[in-house]
Amino acid sequence: MTVHFPFQNTYAALPANFFARVAPTPVASPRLLKLNRSLAVQLGLDPDLLDSPEGAEILSGKRLPEGADPIAMAYAGHQFGQFVPQLGDGRAILLGEVIDQDGVRRDIQLKGSGPTPFSRRGDGRAALGPVLREYIVSEAMFALGIPTTRSLAAVITGESVMRETVLPGAVLTRVASSHIRVGTFQYFAARQDTDAVRRLADHVIARHYPQLAGHEQRYHALLQAVIARQADLVARWLHIGFIHGVMNTDNTSVSGETIDYGPCAFLDHYDPAAVFSSIDEQGRYAYANQPRIALWNLTRLAECLLPLFSDDQDKAIAQAQEILGIFPEKFSAAYQAGLRAKIGLFTARDGDEALVQDLLEAMARGKADFTLTFRRLGDAALDAANNGKARELFAEPAAFEEWAARWRQRIADEPQSPAERRTAMQAVNPAFIPRNHRIEAVIAAAVANDDYAPFEKLLKVLAKPFEDQGEFADYADPPKPEQRVCQTFCGT
Ligand code: AMP
Ligand code: MG
Repeated sequence: MTVHFPFQNTYAALPANFFARVAPTPVASPRLLKLNRSLAVQLGLDPDLLDSPEGAEILSGKRLPEGADPIAMAYAGHQFGQFVPQLGDGRAILLGEVIDQDGVRRDIQLKGSGPTPFSRRGDGRAALGPVLREYIVSEAMFALGIPTTRSLAAVITGESVMRETVLPGAVLTRVASSHIRVGTFQYFAARQDTDAVRRLADHVIARHYPQLAGHEQRYHALLQAVIARQADLVARWLHIGFIHGVMNTDNTSVSGETIDYGPCAFLDHYDPAAVFSSIDEQGRYAYANQPRIALWNLTRLAECLLPLFSDDQDKAIAQAQEILGIFPEKFSAAYQAGLRAKIGLFTARDGDEALVQDLLEAMARGKADFTLTFRRLGDAALDAANNGKARELFAEPAAFEEWAARWRQRIADEPQSPAERRTAMQAVNPAFIPRNHRIEAVIAAAVANDDYAPFEKLLKVLAKPFEDQGEFADYADPPKPEQRVCQTFCGT
C-alpha cells in the first residue's frame, strides 16, 4: 500500500511568477525520527502507512507522493530593516495542500529538501539541531494554544551538512494554514506588479479571511484583519515569554500563525530587554520590542496594498494610516486581557493595568522566573500559605509581598472561590515551556550520540503544558547558572 496524500493544490495554480517549480533533491538514506501521528490523522493521512521506509522517503523528499506539485514560493522581505527584493524558499519546497478534518486548507512543506532557484549561496539543506528545535517549539506552541505552523515529521537524511562544523542533515515537514508572508506581498509590490498584488490579496482573502470576500472595501478589510491577528498573536507571545528572534517581514505570516522558528527562545527570568539571537546585535527583536516590530512589519504590508486602496496615492496613504492606527489598541486590549487572566482576575477595573505592571517591574528587578511566578501565583490564589513558593523566586522578596497584599485585596472583591481562581489561572499559566537549556540538551544528545530519548521525553512533557505532571517536575525548573543559554543561533 502506498501513502495517499489527498492534495488539492491552489497556490501552484497561481501565475508562474509566484513560484518556481522544483522537485526535492533525493537524499542518501532517510530515517524517520519522528512522526506526528495525531497531526497526520488531522490531515487525512494514514499514520501507519507514513511510519514506514516509504514514508521516510516521502518525508525527506526522496520520493514524491502522487498529486504533489512541488514548488518553491517567491517572496521578498525586510531582514533587520533592510529590504531584500528576492528571498523565496531557498531550502523549502511546498508539496501541496490538503483540506484537514476541520475543513481548513493546510500546506505540507518540506524544509531542508535541497536547493531551489531561490537558494542564493545556501545549500538548501537543514541541520538536525534546528529541525529538532522547530519540531519541539512549534508543537509546544500548539499545545500552549498559540497560532503556529505545525510539525508533521522530522527525518534524518543520512547526509552531512557543512555549517561551522559538519552536522547531520535533516528535513522537517512543516504544516501551515499557508506560507504566505508579508514578504510575499513585498515581492510583487517591489516589482510594481499591482495585478499580482491583487491576485495574491484575493487568494489570501479566499483562503484566510473568506468572510471578507463580499466586503465592498475588501483590501482595506484585509489589512485590518491581518492587523487584528498579528496584534493578538504577539500579545500571546508575550504572555508566555516567547521571543521570536527574527521577526523579519518574510517571517511574518498573513494568516497570523507563528512561523520560522530560528533563533527563538523563551524567557527564564523576566527581562523585557531580553535578546537571545546571536545575529540580533541591536536588540531589534527583543522581547518587549515585538509589538512595535509587528506594527512596523504591518506597515510594510500596508504599503504593498496602497495601489489596491485608491488610485489617489495621498488618499490611499491616509486610509492605510487610519487602519494601522488600530494596532496599538488591538494589541493593548489583547495583552491586558491576557495579563489580567494571568493574575487571576475575572473582571476588568481601573488600576488593574498598574497592578500587573507593578508585578512585572518587581519581577524584572527581582530576576524572577517568568513562567514559575505566574504558575505559583495560582497556588497562592488558592491559599495565602502558598505565597512562599512564589516569593522565593524574587531576589527582593519584600517587593513581592508588598505586591501580593494589594493583589489579595483586589481578588477579594470578586465572587469566585479560591479553587475556581486557581483552576482558571493554571489554564492560562503553563507549568512547562520549551526552556532553552532543555532544547539544547535534546539537540546535544541527538547530534553527539544519535540519542532521541530526551527529544521524545521533552515532547511528551510539552504536550500538556498546563498539567502539573509531578513525575516531570524538574522540566519546570529554570536553568541552573551553568545551564543557562545566553545565545541562540539560526543554524541555517
Ligand atoms: P530564514 O532566516 O530561515 O527565515 O531564511 C531567510 C532566507 O534565507 C530564506 O529565503 C531562506 O529560504 C534562505 N535560506 C536559509 N537557509 C538556507 C539554506 N541552507 N539554503 C538556501 N537558502 C536558505
Ligand atoms: Mg524565513
